[in-house]
Amino acid sequence: MRLACVFSIVAKSQNPIKTLFRRHLSLVVSALPIMADSEESLRRALAEKHAAVDAQAEAVRALKAGPAFAPAEIDAAVESLKVLKVEAAAAARRLQAAVSRNVDGSIAGSREAFRQAVVNTLERRLFYIPSFKIYRGVAGLYDYGPPGCAVKSNVLAFWRQHFVLEENMLEVDCPCVTPEIVLKASGHVDKFTDLMVKDEKTGTCYRADHLLKDYCKEKLEKDLTLSSEKAAELKHILAVLDDLSADEVGAKIKEYGIAAPDTKNPLSDPYPFNLMFQTSIGPSGLSPGYMRPETAQGIFVNFKDLYYYNGNKLPFAAAQIGQAFRNEISPRQGLLRVREFTLAEIEHFVDPEDKTHPKFVDVSNLEFLMFPRKEQMAGESAKPMILGEAVSKGTVNNETLGYFIGRVYLFLARLGIDKDRLRFRQHLPNEMAHYAADCWDAEIECSYGWIECVGIADRSAYDLRAHSEKSGVALVAHEKFSESREVEKLVIVPSKKELGLAFKGNQKMVVEALEVMSEKEALKMRASLESKGEVDFHVCTLGKAVVITKNMVSINIEKKKEHQRVFTPSVIEPSFGIGRIIYCLFEHSFYTRPSKSEDEQLNVFRFPPLVAPIKCTVFPLIKTQKFDDVAKIIARSLTAAGISHIIDITGTSIGKRYARTDEIGVPFAITVDSTSSMTIRERDSKEQVRVSIDEVANVVKEVTDGQSTWADIMWRYPAHAASLADEE
Ligand code: AMP
Repeated sequence: MRLACVFSIVAKSQNPIKTLFRRHLSLVVSALPIMADSEESLRRALAEKHAAVDAQAEAVRALKAGPAFAPAEIDAAVESLKVLKVEAAAAARRLQAAVSRNVDGSIAGSREAFRQAVVNTLERRLFYIPSFKIYRGVAGLYDYGPPGCAVKSNVLAFWRQHFVLEENMLEVDCPCVTPEIVLKASGHVDKFTDLMVKDEKTGTCYRADHLLKDYCKEKLEKDLTLSSEKAAELKHILAVLDDLSADEVGAKIKEYGIAAPDTKNPLSDPYPFNLMFQTSIGPSGLSPGYMRPETAQGIFVNFKDLYYYNGNKLPFAAAQIGQAFRNEISPRQGLLRVREFTLAEIEHFVDPEDKTHPKFVDVSNLEFLMFPRKEQMAGESAKPMILGEAVSKGTVNNETLGYFIGRVYLFLARLGIDKDRLRFRQHLPNEMAHYAADCWDAEIECSYGWIECVGIADRSAYDLRAHSEKSGVALVAHEKFSESREVEKLVIVPSKKELGLAFKGNQKMVVEALEVMSEKEALKMRASLESKGEVDFHVCTLGKAVVITKNMVSINIEKKKEHQRVFTPSVIEPSFGIGRIIYCLFEHSFYTRPSKSEDEQLNVFRFPPLVAPIKCTVFPLIKTQKFDDVAKIIARSLTAAGISHIIDITGTSIGKRYARTDEIGVPFAITVDSTSSMTIRERDSKEQVRVSIDEVANVVKEVTDGQSTWADIMWRYPAHAASLADEE
């Protein structure tokens, strides 16, 4: 989520879009996943070999042209040249292998080939498909088919269990259509933008930073003649892409001669494009609205009621799962960048003076890949860190933020995300909104690079203050003191009379802006008024500065007795892009293995039972009425146990049926080969056990619910000897 200024006196930034808003560039390919040192030395080695080849070729030419023609010497020099050329080719191959590292060791070929295999399987088995396909589809819109829907609903069910249930969060469900005023207050109307460039001849639009990113990546991967200095420069651009201003992106596009990808026509300068879908509410057309770009605002505007519901106590968290809409400039990369997607967001409200978390100890010993900003700026890579140490050293700003980073890590790991391809990357200084205390993204590596899947931000009090100011409803919390305390308090008293005379219809906006000044701003204003008699004052709601004179406001620090402290809570916001998580999970779960005859590769998704779309298939071994009847009895007991399943009574071989269910990631298969007992086969090991008809549903339930592991089951029940013979 990104936001703009609301306070009256705004720290003007060099680069307002980037600084005030968390950048929209969430597909991050910062510092390529290659070991920088080895790549650099390979580039150097290749350059040396090329230089040696050139020098030797020159020597051969000189010998041939020389006065003393010496055939033996020439032959020897030509031989050396051949050897050097072979060595140069080998060095080029080593470098090529290093820069186009494959994401899955088990799959031969490139990342693209791996991705193609995954995506083909996903689309063929209807995990997801382009929406409105019969009308040739619309970029950035996808439908989930039956297995995809089931995976998504399992991921969301686990999200509710892991976060909402575990933390007693207050779940809400707010409308997607949102009136303009809400998104004006949040800053989205003015600042929810990405940088766009246009093909100057055809008008086709592209995301400016994406073109720059693609250029750098392609150069790094394909241009083996790149000097190590140039390679370092391009890598640096990738690492700080989120941090570049419109002017900087434009300058780089020009410097590198980047043209429109489809036509090679020149491109316009980058300019901001607002990503929200606009609509109007009701038939009059007078009430503008937008499809929400995130779910968070629905929670912020309900803060007062939720706080009351929670017994006026902090901290507490509210959560929402729902659709978000962003009119992406050029959607690509399948489910990763779409125009409508499911977000699951948490807003954890906390006292800004106490961001400790009672359950932090539960996660403090976790160790995982973290990528603090210092390491990013230095061109290093992510390294394993213990969360407790990252918080105690101040790398992560506070315990509550750290707690959520830990919980997000556990969530993703339990879903089946490969821990070695998961890292937490801290935002670079300009990437982060100016009001934010600290932000970390959970990034998952897939064939497209490192993808931001969850953003975890300490947004301080920004959002509630913004809505307080715009709505006039105080979105604040109270801390009651056991005894009253004498406190020094800033008292700002705007003179309504003087302000009315000076600003007429705008008086209310100026009064409100004066009243919500922070102590620092107010004292600065008092000093200026005392020294100069007047001061320029920016009123956000007016969108301009006005001149305030000494008689318009009194600013004093007074001693007062107080019974309570009134404050705006800070918010810590983990925001989950469900589609992105699911896509990465698809890639991390996918593998192929040879068929029994070894003439074909069979696809498998190794989903953990928790997310598998269907937990179990039931196969009568051969087509007979009695086995079909037993299969139906088992299906009934699986339904009663709440296990999703399908019966496959097609006459195809059992091996083919196994292969079919492996391809949609079903973890267990029950094969009915007798009326009293049957086998259960586990998908990845292909091991089978024999279990009686009375126990079979419970065994599958135990192992899909996670009460037992497959190893426990193997230990308890006799193995079925014919296992491998059944396979395809
Ligand atoms: P943001 O509010 O931009 O930080 O986005 C929150 C989360 O939404 C990100 O971490 C992504 O996982 C996800 N997300 C953002 N934009 C898109 C998109 N166009 N398509 C799919 N997921 C997205």
